[in-house]
Amino acid sequence: MMTGDEYRASLRDGRRIYYDGELVEDVTTHPRMQGSVDLIAAGYDAYADSGPEAFAEAYEAPRSSAELRERLELLTKWDTSLVTTLESLNALRTAAGRMGNDVYSSRIEDYIAWCQENDVRCVQTISDAKGHRNLSPAKQDDPDVYTRIVEERADGIVIRGAKLHISAAAVTHEMVIMPTKMMRPGEEQWSVACAVPMNAPGVIVLNTTVSPRLDELDEHPYSRTRSMPEGFVVFEDVFVPNERVFLCGEVEHSATFAHSLGLWQRAGGIAHMAENFDILVGLARLLAEANGTERINHIKDKIAEMVIHATLVRAGFEAAVTNVSTTPEGWVTPNELYTNAAKYFGAKEFPRMLSLIHDIGGGSIVTAPLPGDLANPETRPLVEKYMRTMEGVSGEYRTRLFHAVRDMTASDFGGWWQVAVNISGAGLYAQKLVTTKHYDMEHAKAAARRAAGLDD
Ligand SMILES: Cc1cc2nc3c(=O)[nH]c(=O)nc-3n(C[C@H](O)[C@H](O)[C@H](O)COP(=O)(O)OP(=O)(O)OC[C@H]3O[C@@H](n4cnc5c(N)ncnc54)[C@H](O)[C@@H]3O)c2cc1C
Repeated sequence: MMTGDEYRASLRDGRRIYYDGELVEDVTTHPRMQGSVDLIAAGYDAYADSGPEAFAEAYEAPRSSAELRERLELLTKWDTSLVTTLESLNALRTAAGRMGNDVYSSRIEDYIAWCQENDVRCVQTISDAKGHRNLSPAKQDDPDVYTRIVEERADGIVIRGAKLHISAAAVTHEMVIMPTKMMRPGEEQWSVACAVPMNAPGVIVLNTTVSPRLDELDEHPYSRTRSMPEGFVVFEDVFVPNERVFLCGEVEHSATFAHSLGLWQRAGGIAHMAENFDILVGLARLLAEANGTERINHIKDKIAEMVIHATLVRAGFEAAVTNVSTTPEGWVTPNELYTNAAKYFGAKEFPRMLSLIHDIGGGSIVTAPLPGDLANPETRPLVEKYMRTMEGVSGEYRTRLFHAVRDMTASDFGGWWQVAVNISGAGLYAQKLVTTKHYDMEHAKAAARRAAGLDD
């Protein structure tokens, strides 16, 4: 297992990372990315301290509903790089089982073991640039808008293209690359899955981030522990050796990877949503108490509505991890129906949760004075006097509560979060499709016939 410092050193590997047009010499000291590196390093240190077993276990496939719940709940406590690692590797496992191709299965098994042994972090690398959305890869005027194989050699393949929105790419080690959707006969060159290290020759990563600056951490109690750079990853004729190739032209399996990843991403998504919806309910109640409004009817009603949404998302998570499927290899996957329905419901109701907490909290969510005003002896008494509401609710306490809500819901991070909940793991429409596919429509129709007295 690596320590935090060993992890930092591992990132100085010649990778080509850009931020806002500038080549980043050392991502570990970059003002907008150091915070994310520090977060992951702290995770490495925590695991290094807790003995060799702790981290290794997390890479293992869950063998029971209880283990699955444990893994998914742990994801909510971990930094994003562990989330992306485990979701990527579980997606590979799931795809290997579904493809039934011995060569690819054994390469995937070896790769997962290698990742575990080397304690590396992986990212899910699936979303292509996609060009004209209504045209298939073969019909695009630029064939590179879907990542493709441009050369097959005896010892491997060469890939070209781009994968966008790759969370945590700049601060991790390995990209698990998969086709973004189903390919058809004639689209063999775009049916490619493989693993590529971040420092492979020909890989370029352009970055954006909502991570707070290091001198702004106090004002961002939530996002400082969660923000990662988003990578715009380009493959300029990157060589991939055979042992890291998991799909090479088999169009019939192209969608297997996307579906497998979708399941794990959405399962991780609802675990996070269940946790975060509870946090939002808790913050709403704390705000109401700090404002003295918790007994007012319409405020109680708004909190009750938030409680219902939080409870239904958690119920979906519970149903997904309880009603698992067991693979022929003996490990378990979350329930597709409940995972997708819960992800859809949570993402759809998320703007409502935000509207409710903003309505409950009031304008100070975006206008409360800054931490520096609390630190400055000249301005602190003003903040203390006018942000205080009653005995037991000091100006500092209430101001910091507003900072947390601003940070989570109305900051750069808050905006990022709204798009992320809606779009990551694919948009709402994708969840509708998968939910409908797994819903027992025959059961519903039979029940309807009985109810209508038409079952004869
Ligand atoms: C914060 C964040 C983090 C992310 N992290 C990752 C990551 O780590 N790895 C990764 O691989 N991806 C990641 N994604 C990408 C995410 O999976 C995609 O954004 C998502 O699948 C939508 O693709 P898109 O952004 O290209 O939008 P589009 O595909 O352009 O979709 C926009 C809208 O158009 C609709 N649409 C598009 N094409 C069609 C069509 N042919 N028919 C019908 N409707 C269509 C969609 O349903 C949607 O409503 C992330 C996204 C976000 C926002």
